[in-house]
Amino acid sequence: MECIFCKIAAGEIPAPPVYRDDEVLAIADINPQAPTHLLVMPLAHHANIGALSDADDAALTAKLFAVASQLGRQHGPGGYRLVMNTGGDGGQTVDHLHVHVLAGRAMSWPPG
Ligand code: 5GP
Ligand code: ZN
Repeated sequence: MECIFCKIAAGEIPAPPVYRDDEVLAIADINPQAPTHLLVMPLAHHANIGALSDADDAALTAKLFAVASQLGRQHGPGGYRLVMNTGGDGGQTVDHLHVHVLAGRAMSWPPG
């Protein structure tokens, strides 16, 4: 398995968990773009949101966003941003589904 987030989820690459349960892991981004920059991912490999389809996957998506929102509230009392880059034009560089949680500064719009 060449997927770096699968290796992190399996403990093969160390990354202290900010949150972990039997389905979902959150870690700090290695290249933070805000004072708080977390990545919330499923332990199971899915390439991105476009690769999900059935009801189980919808439940997983809801879980990811629930965890991401909880972390956003904790780290960004004044607001936060959840981002899911998808595909090349979407800016996705790691092909393992994840939600970015950005907080700790005012965000601009539109994104680059
Ligand atoms: P994407 O570009 O796919 O939306 O987001 C991938 C994110 O993963 C990037 O923000 C990048 O900094 C982060 N990242 C890439 N490799 C690693 C790693 O080995 N450890 C951690 N913690 N983050 C990583
Ligand atoms: Zn993976």
